[in-house]
Amino acid sequence: MKSGAGVPVKSFVSTRNACKLCSPLGACFAFRGIEGCIPLIHGSQGCATYIRRYGISHFREPIDIASSNFTEAAAIFGGKDNLFTALDNVSRAYRPAAIGITSTCLSETIGEDVSMYLKQYETRRGQGLCDNAGHCPAIFYASTPSYRGTHVEGFHEAIYAAVRALISDGPAADQRRVKVPPRINLISGLLSAEDLRELHAILKSFAAPYTLLPDYSESLDGPSWAGYQKLPAGGTKADDIRSMKDAAGTLYLGFSSSPERDAGQWLASRFGVPLTHMDFPLGIENCDVFFESLSRLCEKPVPEFWTKQRGRLIDAYIDGHKYCNGKKAIIYGEEDFVVAIASFLDEIGVVPVAAATGAQSNSFAHRIRKALKNTRQQTLIMDKADFAGILEAVKGGGLEADFVMGHSKGLYLARNLGLPLLRCGFPVHDRIGGQRILHLGYKGTLNLFDLVCNTLMQARQEKFSSGYTYI
Ligand code: SF4
Repeated sequence: MKSGAGVPVKSFVSTRNACKLCSPLGACFAFRGIEGCIPLIHGSQGCATYIRRYGISHFREPIDIASSNFTEAAAIFGGKDNLFTALDNVSRAYRPAAIGITSTCLSETIGEDVSMYLKQYETRRGQGLCDNAGHCPAIFYASTPSYRGTHVEGFHEAIYAAVRALISDGPAADQRRVKVPPRINLISGLLSAEDLRELHAILKSFAAPYTLLPDYSESLDGPSWAGYQKLPAGGTKADDIRSMKDAAGTLYLGFSSSPERDAGQWLASRFGVPLTHMDFPLGIENCDVFFESLSRLCEKPVPEFWTKQRGRLIDAYIDGHKYCNGKKAIIYGEEDFVVAIASFLDEIGVVPVAAATGAQSNSFAHRIRKALKNTRQQTLIMDKADFAGILEAVKGGGLEADFVMGHSKGLYLARNLGLPLLRCGFPVHDRIGGQRILHLGYKGTLNLFDLVCNTLMQARQEKFSSGYTYI
């Protein structure tokens, strides 16, 4: 664990109150963002139940996660038969367009060779498990031992697995011709369903064909149903994923995918699709980069609707700067999200005195420092952090703050420090509406700006002995 503020940070072998979630969990959400895809956990029931529990409490939707249901025997002799039975049952019961398999700590620890199993399964797969035309569900496989990565790494691994499985051929990089109008690939990080809807609105406004991958804006946050749906509608269509090889470019939100297993990188090297990784479009500067990149790829100016929204955001910054300028915050969560929040807070004059992520990252400290262009004070920067460690480092360093910002699991930190918690990111499971929090774009930034200002105003107001007052 590293500190960027000269604060001594103890290292522990065990994690105490984790600041990250399980790797297959992220993979399952990415798979639910592909049309007709059901996630299948290769491991024990408990892993599937944990993921369902987290998904339901954040998205407030039923989420079916299948499991190969390891027993003691499978843990000793291997889970191939369990996996084949699960694939047969899931194909029969759900009639899915795709099955997204994730490994687990257990199946990885005993050395399950799932890729080899799947080759064997393909040769024996019964036609009764496919549709009348003989189309069988596509099978994606993401290797996601939780001891190797976080939920976000699992999320990106699932995207890579789906892209690799669905795109098998096409023109090589040196033979490709970009279609007119140019097609855009947008690969997102783990965002809220509302963020994905905002990305759709932005992409549609440029009137260019696009693939947004993954897309659980409907499948994990749809309208109420008259009857139970095993696989809710929505998600990126398989044909749109196949079209990604013909795009004018890929915009990839976030940097947390592994360079060797990065879907955008693979499209770039195999088909010559130019790749641009960028920070989440949160805060004016990051949003400007995002809109300018879209404008360049689509060969169109940014629609006036968004430039007006940008103007309203600047106006709000001017209105609210006296409430937030010089205040201090503690931020934590997944790497890409914390970096974007740091950049936003720096923009509005809030000093992030501590920035932490549960991910093990060589780039986190550098990215945070780069995001903090205006902050003069040193920031405590911690990767591979847990909440107990963050609390000790903050208290040990005598750091003072006005609020804590991140997902619901930070309640432990906020309570122990006696500070208000601004909930955002994932998971938000102790409030209603986590899936509807808008973080991205000028509108999402405005939403967070109001939240920061109003939280600070409320904290100040509560100290007044009189009732209602102008602040
Ligand atoms: S055992 Fe591993 S894969 Fe299963 S829920 Fe726990 S962390 Fe996730």
